[in-house]
Parts: sequence; C-alpha cells; structure tokens
Amino acid sequence: MAASKGKIEKNLQQIRENIAEACRRAGRSPGEVSIIAVTKTADLEAIKAAVDLGLLDLGESRAQQLVERAGELNAHLQRRRTELPGSVRWHMIGHLQRNKIRLVMDVAEVIHSVDSLRLAEAINDRAEKAGKPAEVLLQVNCSEEPQKFGVAVAAALHMAELMRTLKHLRLLGLMTMAEQTSQGEQTRPTFVRCRELFEEIRKAGVAGDSFRHVSMGMSQDYAVAVEEGATLLRIGSALFE
Ligand SMILES: *Cc1c(COP(=O)(O)O)cnc(C)c1O
Repeated sequence: MAASKGKIEKNLQQIRENIAEACRRAGRSPGEVSIIAVTKTADLEAIKAAVDLGLLDLGESRAQQLVERAGELNAHLQRRRTELPGSVRWHMIGHLQRNKIRLVMDVAEVIHSVDSLRLAEAINDRAEKAGKPAEVLLQVNCSEEPQKFGVAVAAALHMAELMRTLKHLRLLGLMTMAEQTSQGEQTRPTFVRCRELFEEIRKAGVAGDSFRHVSMGMSQDYAVAVEEGATLLRIGSALFE
C-alpha cells in the first residue's frame, strides 16, 4: 500500500529536518542539497502528492517504468492544468542499457548512471541527433564491491577527461551508492571517497564548470551523505512508505 498524501507530507517534513540538522553539523547550507523523490515503490496518487508538495525532481531506476510513470504524470498534469512552481524533471538513476537510451532520453532530463565510455558515447550520439546536450553524472563504484555498476575509483578521473571530449554531454558530477548491507555510519567511508574524488576531479579542471554535483544518499543513509557533501539525495522508501 502506498502512503497517503498526509503521510508523505509528514515524511517529507522529517526528511527536511534531518537534512537541516546534518547541514548544521557539517556547516553547510540546506540550499545546497536537493531531494530527488524516487518513485519506484509509489503509485500515481503518491507521485501526484509528492509533486503537489513541491518535489519536482523525480527519479526512477528502470527505463520502462520511468517512461510509463512520466507519461501518466504528464497526462494528469495536462488535464489538471495546474500551475506548478516549475516543471517536473525526471532523473534516470539505475543502470541504463544502450538499447534504452533513446527511450529514456525522450523523457529524462538527467542520467545519473553513466558507467562506461561506450554508454557515454552512445548518449552523446543521441544528444547530438536530438539537438540538445545531455546532462549526466558519472557513476563511480566508491564502495568497490566486485559486482556493482560504476567505474572504478582509480578510473574515474580519466573517464571524466574522456567525457569532456564528447561535445554533447554535460557532466554534472558524480553518483555513487553505498553498500547494500551497510547503514548509517557504516556508509561514511564510501561517501568520503566519493566526495574526495569529486574534489580531485574538480581541482584537476578536467570536467568543466557544470561539474558541481555529488549524487549520493538514499533513505537509510542520506544524513551521513549530507554530512559528507552530497548535493543530490535519491530518496524513495523514507518518503513513500
Ligand atoms: C531505489 C533507489 C534509490 C532509493 O532507495 P530508497 O532506499 O528507497 O531511498 C536510490 N538510488 C537508486 C539508484 C535506487 O535504485
């Protein structure tokens, strides 16, 4: 069962408080941190509620579901002709197969899960054809688990350099996921590694001015991620359950 609008509102309030506290501990401004509402366990009613509550950044991890959800929400928003404070932006946050690129890019504004040069090149080609630069993040396997998506930490700087040569890509930053089995404090080393890598790439000047974001932190670990410099949180269950 998906949560009611009242429950989602309460959850959101709690999440915002936790973010504000984590920011205070870390000496950061809450304005530097955005929530992406991950809708994979939400139904259309819950997604509409989130949008009404001002969550305009929405994320999905599967291509097909992203396209379906975006279509349903769009149809609803058009029927309702509601004035939103801005437009809804969909983020693709899960592993992307090359044969789904076109499908996803017709809908998503940002792809967080670029994890190989071949994928980056294919996205670049599609962006050129579409006449619009693609905003992407480089996914890095900062927890260094063997079967996980993401480029190796040691390969990330060079990958960022290579991506710079792809003229139709705009590299917004890095994305990482903590170990599935760890929670809270245990996730800190992974987030520290990602933040340090982000700083290293930024200082090396290989990635350009758009390189400003660190996408890390989910329902179980977003407070630690904020303390360690996350700018984009991908939160699903803590919001919708
Ligand atoms: C599902 C998912 C999330 C959100 O997970 P929750 O634990 O529900 O907050 C974030 N990022 C990715 C890549 C996901 O697949």
